[in-house]
Amino acid sequence: MTTPTGRSSAIASIAGRTPTGSSVNFLDESPKNVFGSNTFSIAVMKRMLKPETYDSILLTIKSGHKLSEHVADEVAEAMRNWATSKGATHYAHVFFPLTGSTAEKHDSFYDPSDTGNEAISKFKGKVLIQGEPDASSFPNGGIRATHRARGYTAWDPTSPAYLLESANGTTLCIPTSFISWTGESLDTKTPLLKSMQALDKQARRILAIFGHKEIAYVAATAGPEQEYFLVDKAFYFSRPDLLAAGRTLFGAQPPKGQEFEDHYFGAIPERVLAFMCEVDRELYKLGIPSKTRHNEVAPGQFEIAPLFESANVAADHQQLVMTVLKKVADSHGLICILHEKPFAGVNGSGKHVNWSLGSATQGNLLDPGDTPHDNAQFLVFAGAVIRAVDKYAGLLRAVVASAANDHRLGANEAPPAIISVYLGDQLADVFEQIKGGGATSSRQRGTLHIGVDVLPPLPKDAGDRNRTSPFAFTGNRFEFRAVGSSQSIGTPLVALNTILTESLDYIAGKLEGAADLNAAIQHVLKEIVDEHGRVIFNGNGYSEEWHEEAARRGLPNLKTTADALGAYVDHSVVEVFEKYGVLSHEELHSRYEIAMEQYIKQINVEAKLVEEIAQTKIFPVASAYAASLATGATHLKAVGLTAPSATLHKVVALVTDLENEIAALQSAHAAANEISDYTFKVLPAMLEVRKTVDALEALLPDDQWPLPTYQEMLFIR
Ligand code: ADP
Ligand code: MG
Repeated sequence: MTTPTGRSSAIASIAGRTPTGSSVNFLDESPKNVFGSNTFSIAVMKRMLKPETYDSILLTIKSGHKLSEHVADEVAEAMRNWATSKGATHYAHVFFPLTGSTAEKHDSFYDPSDTGNEAISKFKGKVLIQGEPDASSFPNGGIRATHRARGYTAWDPTSPAYLLESANGTTLCIPTSFISWTGESLDTKTPLLKSMQALDKQARRILAIFGHKEIAYVAATAGPEQEYFLVDKAFYFSRPDLLAAGRTLFGAQPPKGQEFEDHYFGAIPERVLAFMCEVDRELYKLGIPSKTRHNEVAPGQFEIAPLFESANVAADHQQLVMTVLKKVADSHGLICILHEKPFAGVNGSGKHVNWSLGSATQGNLLDPGDTPHDNAQFLVFAGAVIRAVDKYAGLLRAVVASAANDHRLGANEAPPAIISVYLGDQLADVFEQIKGGGATSSRQRGTLHIGVDVLPPLPKDAGDRNRTSPFAFTGNRFEFRAVGSSQSIGTPLVALNTILTESLDYIAGKLEGAADLNAAIQHVLKEIVDEHGRVIFNGNGYSEEWHEEAARRGLPNLKTTADALGAYVDHSVVEVFEKYGVLSHEELHSRYEIAMEQYIKQINVEAKLVEEIAQTKIFPVASAYAASLATGATHLKAVGLTAPSATLHKVVALVTDLENEIAALQSAHAAANEISDYTFKVLPAMLEVRKTVDALEALLPDDQWPLPTYQEMLFIR
């Protein structure tokens, strides 16, 4: 009676896969030659532009000088010549809408000529600088009425244009900002650029206070680590939940999970390594400095991290990393899953955003130096971060809030939903000393002395890395670990830059014109520790005690997206964003609306999937099995034997539960209206259905179970 399920044919097809050799051979294709070969880089511009034009565009890129129409025309021409010589037929303004995804609209370089028998290639400065996609179906959170559906894309010359190759043609991609016709930003890039500008201005004030005369542009920097799962395509396509929701909504725990810890940093499986090599090559071509790759904690989980770059470029590159991971996986018969929690019971995926700020003249400003003078400057920047994180903890929680990340934050494997700062013992001790008053204003000639003679050398990649902290100092940068694996890093970076800007502004105000700079620094740092030291926590963020302790300290613990999103429109948040011209009240409101809408849509899809899979895949198999057990029992009885009945009773009870739970979910779902209904009514109802289905998985004949199991998805590749 058994017919092969989608699942059994999936296993058969995977077992038949020939081992994949990588198509990449870095001996023939040296990474040095490959790197940046598909980017319209500064080097390419230098080669292709007239010296005056090159100088002028460089000023725009490095220092934000205004671009003249004439320069734009020349750059456009060079860009077109470069792109078409490499086989591009189309160009696209690429933008980053508030869904967190990447959007592009392709236009051909070629227009038919008047005579109709030849195509001429047109691409002028105007076309490079501005595009007008019909953008009415991108989320705008109420900013854009449909009768004013126009949106504009504006070229961001600070992020290099690149060629995206596919088997079916090459496209010149131009990174752009996306704004409404009334000028509001509809994307993640526009506010990121604005926040970087604001941060530069305030960071310079601090540097000037410390006596620096020549100060190059101070850029926020970001190095995002991306975690992901790889699952064979054949399994993926027989799991409607993975396919449509990005995560499994059912699945009993496998006999073997991640308890042996044998996957983390283990040998990378051949098939995966072939995939990774090709990912690296594609990223190199795009000028993305892919650096590390390794197995992560959960079976089937991996990580990739490029070297850090200027935050804006890093954010664009991060979007490309996600695109390339998915695309290359597909060509290897794999699916790259970026969801934060695709499998219950094993670790989820995060995106640790390493973040700092620095300039060509002063270097990394979160790098403690060797002299008291450097130390003082470092402590001011570090103190500014601590103050900012405490003051705007709610905002930092809101920018990482999503239906998917809720499964991670607070589930004992990822940082908790309580935002705290891990400093490491040494640095925490330094701030403790500052709090104690230190050795006040004793002054040595030419140096600054702020309570601690010289900072002990802080280990760069400190060995005692705290995996439980959402925001950790890691020797020369902070690592925002609460960001989810599928999220754009744009919005978290906007938040970090903006709140740090406010802190630096505040501190600069206290230090500028101080008669005794030394005493003023000491004073402001002490005030920061007194007022905001509560956010510093070096202990175990997963522990029950921390939750209690955090409550005592008055730190917010916003467990769900429904609780967290309100911070977007909090008075203090609106004020800081408006003050530094990063986002207006309307723009913040739109972001709040969109995040809420996304959340509800996501749970809505998941609830429908649970209802459908439980009803149409699980219920028929389970009730048929119950019927077959019952028939078997009748037959045995007919010949005078007693039939075993324990399994039959269990299955019947579970099938009855299942029917009731599906009905309960349907009614919770139908009644859901507010975001909180989805969080506190629909999600728990989904979980009830899941529990029953997972129990059935343990009872039903294996050859009839319709869904690939955790065991199969996590371990077969
Ligand atoms: P780990 O897994 O130990 O945290 P990784 O090497 O995986 O470290 O990633 C660390 C990331 O931090 C890299 O992307 C690295 O380039 C980045 N990073 C290093 N210095 C800075 C900095 N000054 N600003 C931003 N990111 C940085
Ligand atoms: Mg890491």
